[in-house]
Amino acid sequence: MPPKVVHRACAGSASVSIMKSFACGDVVPGCEARWVCSTDDEILFEVMAHAASVHGVTEVPPSMADAVRGAIVPVS
Ligand SMILES: [Zn+2]
Repeated sequence: MPPKVVHRACAGSASVSIMKSFACGDVVPGCEARWVCSTDDEILFEVMAHAASVHGVTEVPPSMADAVRGAIVPVS
């Protein structure tokens, strides 16, 4: 079953002008899910839940968490 397309924005503070974006496809080829949050930690939290429910990864190894942080890009 192909991964479900998810595009959601975190309920971050409106005073934060620079947002962070992460595309799951940067770490998991073929996955279309992406997030836009105000902080890396918010994205990481969402990605962990996504990884567990969609990819069956219940324990994300530190190397994957590093890969996620490394693939997070700022958006304005
Ligand atoms: Zn994914």
